[in-house]
Amino acid sequence: MDMSNLEHTDSSGRLARTKVVATIGPASEGIIGELIDAGLRTARINFSHGEPDEHRRRVDNIRRIADERGLGIGILADIQGPKLRLGTFPGGKRALHVGEYLILIEGSGEAKPGEAFLNIPGFAATIDVGHCVYLADGQCELVVESVQSGVAKARVLRGGWIGDRKGVHLPDTDLAIRLPTPKDVADIALAREMEVDMIGVSFVGSGADLRAIRKVAPQPLLVAKIERSAALINLEGILEETDGIMVARGDLGVETPLEKLPLIQKDLIEMALKAGKFTITATEMLESMVVAARPTRAEVADVANAVLDGTDAVMLSAETAVGAHPILAVKAMQEIALAMESSERYAKATRVAFHEAEPSFSNGTALAAVQASKALSIQHIVCFTETGNTACQVSRFRPGAAVIALTPHRRTFQALSVMGHVRPVLFERRDNLETMLTDGSQLLVDMGICTTGEQVVMVAGVPPGIARTTNVMKLHHIGEVSSLY
Ligand code: PGA
Ligand code: MN
Repeated sequence: MDMSNLEHTDSSGRLARTKVVATIGPASEGIIGELIDAGLRTARINFSHGEPDEHRRRVDNIRRIADERGLGIGILADIQGPKLRLGTFPGGKRALHVGEYLILIEGSGEAKPGEAFLNIPGFAATIDVGHCVYLADGQCELVVESVQSGVAKARVLRGGWIGDRKGVHLPDTDLAIRLPTPKDVADIALAREMEVDMIGVSFVGSGADLRAIRKVAPQPLLVAKIERSAALINLEGILEETDGIMVARGDLGVETPLEKLPLIQKDLIEMALKAGKFTITATEMLESMVVAARPTRAEVADVANAVLDGTDAVMLSAETAVGAHPILAVKAMQEIALAMESSERYAKATRVAFHEAEPSFSNGTALAAVQASKALSIQHIVCFTETGNTACQVSRFRPGAAVIALTPHRRTFQALSVMGHVRPVLFERRDNLETMLTDGSQLLVDMGICTTGEQVVMVAGVPPGIARTTNVMKLHHIGEVSSLY
């Protein structure tokens, strides 16, 4: 069975390295197969919109179509988190003019003229004179001038329209926000029932938030969405607790000055790589494709730069959820990524230095595998992996060779869909290393990934079947009968 035609390659047959994450919505739920064929590898379900039945229907659909193709497609359930919002206004909206004052009150009802409700418990206890207040996702900017008896008085610096339940950001204020919210708890229960592979944790502020989520969601990978200034301050603790991060440029672009976003993106990707965690770069990547059939030059450069920065995955939001050209958007992303990955610049980009790897057997083995593949110009590093950890450790060095992850677990197969450079393949575990090598090689030939006689690097753990025991690196000719004893 030749399955190579299901994978995306450049003109010289090189497998795609950067993964495409696409949000599934009304515009895309009926064309999942086409999106997968165009390059989608992780499907994002946005729990800020839609009903449980809708989520269930979409997840079932994705699983069925991925199975038909024999591909590991991940599902990322993106949980809303403690989104800060305004209350309501008479008539649904109101204009804010520069210089006018707005009284901010805790609550969620309809505001009187000159006032606005904020759904943030106890914000007045920590908000202070001089703090910035952004309303309607950053369209309006205010500064707090006084705080008295539980209400804050703020002056408008940048005017515009605000309306019912629009987003609020208080980047300077140390808010007592706790995750998960009651809605998150219900959504996580549903996500667990549907056995999603990853949970996107919105508005994370600290490592403790992730520990709280891990308690109610022990199985799926956690993707910490970096979208509050608090998350930037507590990044180290967050990286310790999470499996991956999302550079959530939408909300982050309100909390931090827009012009700082490109450098923050580079720093986040670099720090995540060093910590051995994966990165999804998100929001407005091909925004004009919500209506247009072709991206703008600036958007192409944005996706290209994220790939050059070393992100594991690039993400589409409205482009595929509600846009007019979801398939073209996925195709464009995949093509931009492939064009970058085959460049000298990509190959030469400095990633994680070898000495930065942690001193463990698995990392030592991963490092040896990467160096050997380089010395011998080997095209495929084949990892036998239970948890996906081995493939992840090889991937973080961003080798020139593709990382083929053979795993007996459906969960790992699907979860690796988001990891850069890794191609997951389902492979039943054998009880000794020799049979693993022989049968694994045969499968790769059958799938059209490797050719007989090709040199590969094999990475495994002995004895097989025990997670986190990676300790063998073997240079191997595909098809050779190897007696290891
Ligand atoms: P959202 O998260 O689309 O769920 O808001 C991503 C972002 O803020 O960039
Ligand atoms: Mn967000």
